[in-house]
Amino acid sequence: MQFRDLQRQYLALKEEIDHALCATAASGRYIMGNAVASLEEELARYVGVRHCITCANGTDALTLALKTLNIGAGDAVFVPDFTFFATAEVVALEGATPIFVDVCEDTFNISATSLEEAIKAVEQEGVLSPRAIIAVDLFGQPADYPALSEIARRHKLLFIEDGAQGFGGTIGKQRACSFGDIATTSFFPAKPLGCYGDGGAVFTNNNQWAETIRSLRLHGRGVEKYDNQRIGLNSRLDTIQAAILQVKLKAFIQHELTDIQTAAERYSSLLKDIDGIALPNVPEGYGSSWAQYTLRLESETQRDTLKENLAKAEIPSMIYYPRTLSEQTAFAKTKKYITTPTAHRLTKTVLSIPIHPYIKKEEIEEVAEKIQRSFHPAV
Ligand SMILES: *Cc1c(COP(=O)(O)O)cnc(C)c1O
Repeated sequence: MQFRDLQRQYLALKEEIDHALCATAASGRYIMGNAVASLEEELARYVGVRHCITCANGTDALTLALKTLNIGAGDAVFVPDFTFFATAEVVALEGATPIFVDVCEDTFNISATSLEEAIKAVEQEGVLSPRAIIAVDLFGQPADYPALSEIARRHKLLFIEDGAQGFGGTIGKQRACSFGDIATTSFFPAKPLGCYGDGGAVFTNNNQWAETIRSLRLHGRGVEKYDNQRIGLNSRLDTIQAAILQVKLKAFIQHELTDIQTAAERYSSLLKDIDGIALPNVPEGYGSSWAQYTLRLESETQRDTLKENLAKAEIPSMIYYPRTLSEQTAFAKTKKYITTPTAHRLTKTVLSIPIHPYIKKEEIEEVAEKIQRSFHPAV
């Protein structure tokens, strides 16, 4: 069994993907072009925002957002302490300071209460200017945007949605990657919508920002090719990746998202009665795109025992994430304004189990049975 079976997805979509690959090879056009332009339109339409600008990866997407919002030295940017490294890395790379904020135990996403505490701590110190929040849609589930946007408005903070894992998630009828002033996503192969290499995108309703992002991804280009108006990046999405993504987006919309939701519901109904395991909690009105299906155990020992027992049965599982950002060596010298006990506890207790749109019912049952056995060896 694979943790996220990308080969099975390829085999299901083989005919169309092969056609897209060959057509791109035969076109002789490998940078930008129609595939990129039409993919951007399709993505913007699906997400429900005015502009989508694709780029080389999800990390660059965040960098493009920060550069567009002129965030740099002396600025404080609030990030969850429990996420992939890139969320805070890009802040430091722009010369700004990431402020690590605690998360909610049951949704894994940035906590509104802890955010208020962190903003207050930075304001009281009076050294950095609070400028922006980056909320992450961890494991496929949108953060608490209603509460977070209210805090952002009250403190005049810009709001970036890191939807690298969140593509396809919803709050009510509104889709992920439409919640921030600027939102970003990643098309890394294992993300909810993945390509066959690196890729990313930026989303916004703001016309002027969209123009700046388009310029920044092409070396800060002006209207003509050798007119450079700002310092930018070389961060285009390859034409061949755009062609693959057009096929995958169609499958994602047609059935993959509902298939993975069915898989998650199946896990939840099979695992719900096991004492000692907390299941992922999707609040009322929210929809997850299930980048991960993540269990919480009661202790590190229990988590590690379950992981070992699954490994013995040849079932892969992953610890996302074994370390908080504030514990990372790279941030050893970055000031910690508040404590993040929940993020720390989660690094010791979480375990993600295999899930993807092509996982079979029998595979889910096998994983669930092995988990049950790990808790009740006698059964
Ligand atoms: C994957 C990921 C990124 C970075 O995306 P890449 O395409 O790998 O650069 C950023 N933030 C989060 C939360 C991610 O999971």
